[in-house]
Amino acid sequence: MNEKIKMLQLPPYDHEPKPYVGPSAEEVGQLRRRYLSPALLTYYQNPLMIVEGSMQYLYDETGRRFLDGFGGIVTISVGHCHPTVMDQAKAQLETLQHTTTIYYHPVIAQYAEMLAAKMPGELSVVYFVNSGSEANDLAMQMARLYTGNYDVIALRNGYHGGSPAAMGLTAHSTWKYNYAHSFGVHHALAPDPYRGPWGDNDPAAGEKYAADIQNLIQHATSGRVAGFFAESIQGVGGTVVYPEGYLKPAFDRVREAGGVCISDEVQTGFGRTGDNFWGFENQGVIPDIVTMAKGIGNGAPLAAVVTTPEIAKPLAERIHFNTFGGNPVSCAIGKAVLEVMEKENTQQNCLIMGERLLGGFRDLLEKYDIIGHVRGMGLMTGIELVKDRATKEPATAECARVWERARELGLLIGKGGFYGNVLRIKPPMCITSADVDYMIQVLDIAFSEL
Ligand code: PMP
Repeated sequence: MNEKIKMLQLPPYDHEPKPYVGPSAEEVGQLRRRYLSPALLTYYQNPLMIVEGSMQYLYDETGRRFLDGFGGIVTISVGHCHPTVMDQAKAQLETLQHTTTIYYHPVIAQYAEMLAAKMPGELSVVYFVNSGSEANDLAMQMARLYTGNYDVIALRNGYHGGSPAAMGLTAHSTWKYNYAHSFGVHHALAPDPYRGPWGDNDPAAGEKYAADIQNLIQHATSGRVAGFFAESIQGVGGTVVYPEGYLKPAFDRVREAGGVCISDEVQTGFGRTGDNFWGFENQGVIPDIVTMAKGIGNGAPLAAVVTTPEIAKPLAERIHFNTFGGNPVSCAIGKAVLEVMEKENTQQNCLIMGERLLGGFRDLLEKYDIIGHVRGMGLMTGIELVKDRATKEPATAECARVWERARELGLLIGKGGFYGNVLRIKPPMCITSADVDYMIQVLDIAFSEL
């Protein structure tokens, strides 16, 4: 293995980071501890400071380069500081930074048209906000206003945000504070083929999980619901890919009860899953409302809710206003991101690189018993670690060790799942085959050292 470590080398990349002249990591740590909320989460036992980014790479204050396998939590889509995005952002910043939507501005209107063109069916009305939580809050409000119903169905193991309303949709005790919340939200079984009662070997698994939604509607609500929220693949929950044929019967059950169906595409949107631009398309459904954030802005605070003209109407009965929603700079960035995605065919790259990555994971699965399951679509992937493949007891500490070791070897990845035993690998969409091979080499070394 020492030989493997000696041979390990990041793919060559032509970028010289600027000399760093700011405070040391230790000083920044002191400032954070003194002046920032103790709730801020820091990755790694020895926290990492990142001061520069270029495409799929990040640099610490010493100029050391890392391969970014997590994209700022699945947010960097086309690449850190992508030159086209930066040019259009700078041009807008130097012309007009802010006015709000009370005045006309061309970019928000043109961008909404471009985004609507990416949507199937009647989904053509866009409302811009700043974060995924806000998008889901607004979607819940729209669903209730449109249907006149109150109860909402979401999925266990789902993550939809941390604002009080979105926290109610989120279904992980680790992300829920102990006060009255989740008003009217009921959580159905997580359609998890690895840990749930029905797995990939059961062709009726999708229908069976969907039947739980009907059961929940019958027993936990009046029988009428406002809506159903689902990520297209559960992200924070550990890259849980639903059984084929789940969302269609799930949507049917919800619509029969008067509800609308909301797809949370915050992580899965914009081509990340490879085969399709939107994650829900992988299940052959068209939602009534779609929420999106993260990859939409490649790091800018931009998010959106897209729905049909009918569902959009009731929100206009009062004033709903968002100061920064539709900000010219954010919209210029969003527009540039879409243009780059088309020009550079990032969705196709997600498909090709995702297959290569999953192939590498499958080889690791053969080699290391601690790997219980590998899964994903495109560049939305996960590796679940278990102490025993039969009992599936989560190998949480071992997962942390692999994740820490990967950082030492130059690869930054994520970690998640309810038990914290899933490695989450969701890099920027611009990674190359050499990057993928590097990731596999790093993980191979880290697993071999356990
Ligand atoms: N939905 C999903 C699927 C997410 O992964 C997240 C963030 N991790 C959110 C919503 C909330 O987004 P934000 O942090 O921008 O509020």
